[in-house]
Amino acid sequence: MQWAALFVMSLVRPAVGIGHGSIEEHAGQSEATWTYREEWEMYGQCNEKAGGQSPIDIVTGNIDLSDNAGVTQSVAVGPDGAFELEALAMNRAVLEESSQIKTEFVTNKHTWEVVVKQAKGEIPWIEWNNKWYNLIQFHFHSPSENTVNGKHTDMEAHFVHKAQDGSVLVLAVFLKVGAQNSYLSNFWNLFPTNTDTAVQGQVTNPYGNFLPGDRSYYYYMGSFTTPPCTTGVTWVVMKTPVEISIEQRDAYRAGISVVQDNQLRTNVDPPVPGVTLPWDETKGENNRKAQPMEGRKVYYWQDPDQTASRIGWWLLVLGAILLLLLVVAAIYYMVCYKPKKKVQKIANSEYQETKPEQQRLVQYAQPAPYQEVVTAQPMYNPVIQSVRR
Ligand SMILES: [Zn+2]
Repeated sequence: MQWAALFVMSLVRPAVGIGHGSIEEHAGQSEATWTYREEWEMYGQCNEKAGGQSPIDIVTGNIDLSDNAGVTQSVAVGPDGAFELEALAMNRAVLEESSQIKTEFVTNKHTWEVVVKQAKGEIPWIEWNNKWYNLIQFHFHSPSENTVNGKHTDMEAHFVHKAQDGSVLVLAVFLKVGAQNSYLSNFWNLFPTNTDTAVQGQVTNPYGNFLPGDRSYYYYMGSFTTPPCTTGVTWVVMKTPVEISIEQRDAYRAGISVVQDNQLRTNVDPPVPGVTLPWDETKGENNRKAQPMEGRKVYYWQDPDQTASRIGWWLLVLGAILLLLLVVAAIYYMVCYKPKKKVQKIANSEYQETKPEQQRLVQYAQPAPYQEVVTAQPMYNPVIQSVRR
């Protein structure tokens, strides 16, 4: 636990500039003007006609694994036939896994948000398609906004990044109920219960400490999932969820629901598919519904380490089977062949002992004297016969 290491200080500050899913230039969008209980056609690019909206339902069967969407430095075809895209290069040279990033923990009327306050040059970044994106803030949704084959996960974290030219990349991580998440537990109780307070503190590098070990991801072009729904956003969605305890999930849902005049949606019918039960429907939900694809494609990058570890695992299984077969063969050999060998040995030794005698017997039975008798017989017979005559 790193409570002692956290420099926690409460400050009274306005909520401007920390809008959920937004970055600085969209800070003017008033938090009070939109809710999760209504449609957003009147806001910015939220109208369906703008196209290219997020979130989406990722239909894994529709992904063309041979299409790399023009992402540069694509590499060879993987062993399972997946076309491997350029790896997601993450900044671990500048920021070691243990290094602390100065942050502010804030609550708005839509979510909890961790705003990066680290000095320039020390901010975590992602390199994507030869462009560098700095981490601006990260926040959460429950249930998840993006879905996979129509199924939500319990939560989704959005790491909002911005490049120097203003373009935005969101790294999304699914959260699924399971074991307690130790990364989140370091700051999960620091979020204020009102929108006027910002708690100062620190977090460790989320890339090294929070992301799943399996770096496989989907990506597609989309938008902010909140007004003004700005399009042209690169979405990188990690395939494998990380775990969060049900208490942590419910603490988040309760935490955003106690905010006065919050703009969450409650008592949704039917219940959300894919989340872990029990799911308290009186607590607020903050996900935008899946948007039409309108000809867009989803691409996929397979983590080669995962492929390698799968191959390694199968080799291990094969090795174990071979070893087992060897042991069985050895036991079979011992049981079925070893006693026969003893008998043969005894037989051999008896044979060796009797061999000289046999050889002598053979020598006594030399046909030479017998031949004399046999050959002599015809000679006597005519003589005897002739005498009798
Ligand atoms: Zn978001």
